[in-house]
Amino acid sequence: MLTFDDEVVTTIPAVDAPSVDAASARIRVEDKRIINCKADVNQLVPFKYKWAWEKYLAACANHWMPQEVNMTADIALWKSDKLSDDERRLIKRNLGFFTTADSLAANNIVLGSYRHITNPECRQFLLRQAFEEAIHTHAYQYIVESLGLDEGEIFNMYHEVPSIRNKDEFLLPYIDVLTNPEFKTGTPETDQALLRSLIVFACIMEGLFFYVGFVQILALGRQNKMTGAAEQYQYILRDESMHLNFGVDLINQIKMENPHLWTAAFREEIRGLMQKGVELEYAYAEDTMPRGILGLNATMFKEYLRFIANRRCQQIGVDILYQGATNPFPWMSEMIDLKKEKNFFETRVTEYQTGGSLSWD
Ligand code: FE
Repeated sequence: MLTFDDEVVTTIPAVDAPSVDAASARIRVEDKRIINCKADVNQLVPFKYKWAWEKYLAACANHWMPQEVNMTADIALWKSDKLSDDERRLIKRNLGFFTTADSLAANNIVLGSYRHITNPECRQFLLRQAFEEAIHTHAYQYIVESLGLDEGEIFNMYHEVPSIRNKDEFLLPYIDVLTNPEFKTGTPETDQALLRSLIVFACIMEGLFFYVGFVQILALGRQNKMTGAAEQYQYILRDESMHLNFGVDLINQIKMENPHLWTAAFREEIRGLMQKGVELEYAYAEDTMPRGILGLNATMFKEYLRFIANRRCQQIGVDILYQGATNPFPWMSEMIDLKKEKNFFETRVTEYQTGGSLSWD
């Protein structure tokens, strides 16, 4: 009988270098492409898109988990009579949108876009992003559970509250196109369908539909209300800013590699989608805060959404929609600009980078 050693010695010749044929079959950086790549998609290196790898590393360094955030003050406040009915409505509807929004985002990545992005560096980020969407859903569930809210009411709001349902119904066709098993990129029409879906997801869902909700909860936190929830939202905002920035880089890289997709008609279509997104998010702002509270009112959100929509258009190279729109919430820029969040973020980041876990004792 042949032993393992015999087999190795007798059947595998010692080779120091690959044959010329094998070497020429190796992946070259210049063969890598974001979509419709014909090369092996399993090889992370050689890197071509360093921005994707760097964002993956940065996202990992920002790791956090919901149960590390102390919810004691939120629970006490929720049980007290110190929150108005309008504030309670805002918190519940906010959770009503977000409890299902990040599941949509996760499904869109795992069942949709991942399959069509044929580059390992970008897939590496998408894998991290998918896990972060799970953490976000976990965070919203943890808030709902901590406050003892009616889970059935909150988790069904995306069916039952029109201002939430309308946002999700707007998104669903752009998820469904990518999750359809018959869908394949490789023609101008299907490549545009992928690009359109990526833009809707990064720039309208993660880049616009999240922002009324973020402002509302962070505004509560700034008034020392629901500080645990606000801390969770701050981590989520940090993650989502990274998802948006990755999405923008991805979109712009696909445009550069496939300039024939970026037609005038396509850009105009994107502007129309962005405008529709602003309308839907403004309706959500009005519904969640029918009267001004927390120093905020729906009109301020109209201006804010126009400001953000312009920024998203600029990021992907589409003409802006709203001339002269300004930012009524300059403090939000500081929330997003992580470098300014020294004491808040840096301790956590360092703890995770050294593999420690947090203690609130
Ligand atoms: Fe996200």
